[in-house]
Amino acid sequence: MDKTTPVDGKFQLMALPYAENALEPIIGAQTIATHHGKHLQTYVNNLNAALPGSGFEGQALEDIVCASKGGVFNNAGQILNHNLYFGQFALPREGNTPTGQLAASIDAQFGSFGAFKERFEQMGATLFGSGWVWLSADAQGILHITQEPNAGNPIVQGLRPLLTFDVWEHAYYLDYQNRRPAHLSALWPIINWDEVARRFT
Ligand code: MN
Repeated sequence: MDKTTPVDGKFQLMALPYAENALEPIIGAQTIATHHGKHLQTYVNNLNAALPGSGFEGQALEDIVCASKGGVFNNAGQILNHNLYFGQFALPREGNTPTGQLAASIDAQFGSFGAFKERFEQMGATLFGSGWVWLSADAQGILHITQEPNAGNPIVQGLRPLLTFDVWEHAYYLDYQNRRPAHLSALWPIINWDEVARRFT
């Protein structure tokens, strides 16, 4: 996958590839503004503050996630997770489905796109506490759906992360309050499947 490298020793807040209100009504502008501009910015600030003397100075974000523990891991993991999360969305589209090899692999692995969505939502809904549900690919291109607590990312297990739903409450509470399953099932029209396919190939 792409590597994210620091500039002058510091990681940067990723630029959103869409306006803060572009994902409405599925994700509201205030949620995006807070989630990206406050939560993600804080993880970036915390990692940058923790890097000097950590032994990870100058390393790529992905390498830090795979090799670190504790506070460095938590902040590096959350930056990587959110970069993948915010980078996978686009304006809402009706009939939004994957195409090409990715669609064929989803059908082969999970039976159908509908069965995949159901399984992915269920894995997100049943993750206790804060964390992430992931679609990732192994070295053979086999797809996996996994739950990761807190700042976890399947890259640590050698998998290539393709798609993720954030189930931390900050991702949905303003728009959906406690209704996590309703939030998860609403996300499919804003998935940028071209970006997910790019990560897959
Ligand atoms: Mn989040």
